[in-house]
Amino acid sequence: MRVNYQKSFYKAAKAVYEISNGLDNLSFPLDILEIISQDRRIKLMTFNEFSNKTHTPHFEISSIFGSEDAFHIRKGNKALIIYNNSLPMNRLRFTLAHEYGHFVMGHTGINLNEHFTYEDFYRRKAEEYEANSFASCLLFPLHIRYKYFNCLNTYKTSEIFQISVQASEIALKVIKTHMDSGLDDYMTSNENLHPKNYLLFLKESLDSHIDYTNEFNYIYDLPI
Ligand SMILES: [Zn+2]
Repeated sequence: MRVNYQKSFYKAAKAVYEISNGLDNLSFPLDILEIISQDRRIKLMTFNEFSNKTHTPHFEISSIFGSEDAFHIRKGNKALIIYNNSLPMNRLRFTLAHEYGHFVMGHTGINLNEHFTYEDFYRRKAEEYEANSFASCLLFPLHIRYKYFNCLNTYKTSEIFQISVQASEIALKVIKTHMDSGLDDYMTSNENLHPKNYLLFLKESLDSHIDYTNEFNYIYDLPI
């Protein structure tokens, strides 16, 4: 068993497309806190607020919940995203988008039982990859990567979209690989259709045997 990265990337891109379609006048850098706040299913809370409310000592939060950056607690179709607001800004932005992605894509997260199977291992690996891809595609949308393909470099991207240099580098590598795989053919029509056309490209690429994301899958040194 292994993770189908191409399929996972498509799933994340599709989830971003569906979320973004319902939002008007998106501008960049994306106000991720605002975007998540608009989703009535989510309640955001900082580590401090969570600590005060639950009487959990602040220093114990990361060991109890398994992350120094953020985590979410789901209840039915609602969730609480608890985040460490002392993180560097770019990391915090990506972290929030990542947790939001877990929620939007209905991930099951860690099952805290002792029987952690190989299936769980691969599912979790796929979920982390999907959440990272979701964050990347939300903060630096695919059709915008295409539009500015010729004038963006890693540092400019990091500055404009307020994502880390590492995340920018991966995003630009992904679009480069897509361009090499014939993305242009899908994008040459009406600019308004670009988000949709990009998705179509990804969907149709699933049937081909180019595992274009494989080489990027371990590069993310980002939160879980
Ligand atoms: Zn995660």
